[in-house]
Parts: sequence; structure tokens; C-alpha cells
Amino acid sequence: MPNQIPSRLDDLEKRNIVVERMQQRGVELSEIAAITLDLQSPYIKDLDFDTCIDHVERVVRKREVQNAILTGLELDILAEKGLISEPLSTMLNEDHGLYGIDEILALAIVNVYGSIGFTNFGYVDKVKPGIMAILDKEGKTKEKCHTFLDDIVGAIAAAAASSIAHRYG
Ligand code: MG
Repeated sequence: MPNQIPSRLDDLEKRNIVVERMQQRGVELSEIAAITLDLQSPYIKDLDFDTCIDHVERVVRKREVQNAILTGLELDILAEKGLISEPLSTMLNEDHGLYGIDEILALAIVNVYGSIGFTNFGYVDKVKPGIMAILDKEGKTKEKCHTFLDDIVGAIAAAAASSIAHRYG
């Protein structure tokens, strides 16, 4: 039945919720697009910022991506509020290096864009360009938990770079 099929508008509504939630957590799409531009400009002549924003938009309109973002941000928020039980609470709040599920969740985002997405994500996860370094630093304070957010941001940037590579490569 038609009303059982989510429309494009539903995805757009969810896009707005996701973008707003990321803003509340300190991230603008433009900051993600800046990472995408850095990642992809060596390979595409005259790549501009608007094109990067456009592809970041495409990424955040995908349902799998939206679901990963909502799940990761919720866990960060609950951890910050002290609503998660031990031993997970400490692992999330202290951003334990061997926890690893934050990167796994982020792979659900890059997975949509094939192997270039994985390579790009591995790179930004290591280098932590732009907003990722800020999030990483803030996440190390007692007040903030960005365990999932930094990987989500990196994954969206990497996915958008891959989307551009597929389009112009
Ligand atoms: Mg992380």
C-alpha cells in the first residue's frame, strides 16, 4: 500500500532531524564538506566546495547513513548523561582505543559507497583532519563524549569523497 512505502519526503524529514542533531553536537555539514574537499581535490581538477556540500547532502539523505548517525549520536548522548551501565559507560566516556564499535558503526556509512569509501575512511580516521581533531580533543574532556561522532563525521566525509570519485572519476 502506498502509505507503507516511505516517501522521499520522509527521508528529507529524517535528513533534517539528522542534520539538526549533528549541529547540536557541534558539527555543521560545511565542516564535513571541507574534509571531503581535502580528500578528493588531489584527484579531481577544479573540484569546488559546493560540489562537496552537494555530495555530503546526498550521503545524509541515505537511510542507512541516517540510521547509523542516529544510533551513534544517541549512544554518545546517553554516555554523556551517565545513562549507560558499566563496563560500557567507562569505555564510551573515556573513548577506549580498543572499543572499536564506533569504527564498525561508521563502516555502515562508507559501505554504501564501495571500496574507495573504506580507504578514505581509514585515512581520515588516522589523520583526523579539521573538525575531527576538534571533536577528538573535546571528547577527551570529562563533559563530552564524542566516541561515535568523530567516526561518523569521518565516514560521511569519506563517503561523500567516494560519491564524487564515482561521479567524476
Ligand atoms: Mg571514535
